[in-house]
Amino acid sequence: MNQKIAQHKHCRSCSKAFVGEGRYCSDECQEGNEQTMKRKKRQLLMLYVVSVAIMIGALLMSVLG
Ligand SMILES: [Zn+2]
Repeated sequence: MNQKIAQHKHCRSCSKAFVGEGRYCSDECQEGNEQTMKRKKRQLLMLYVVSVAIMIGALLMSVLG
C-alpha cells in the first residue's frame, strides 16, 4: 500500500516533498540545513554546559548549606 507516495522524499531542510536522490530538494537547502545543524549543535552544547554548571552549583549548595 501507499506505493505512489513511497517514491518521494521529504527535504530535510524545508520538508517539501521531492523526487530524486539525496536528503535535500536543492543545494541551497543542503547548505542551509548544514549551517542550521552546526548552530543547533553549538546551542545544544551550550545548554549542556549550562545545565551541568547549574547541577554542580545546586549540588555544592546542598552540600555546603
Ligand atoms: Zn528543501
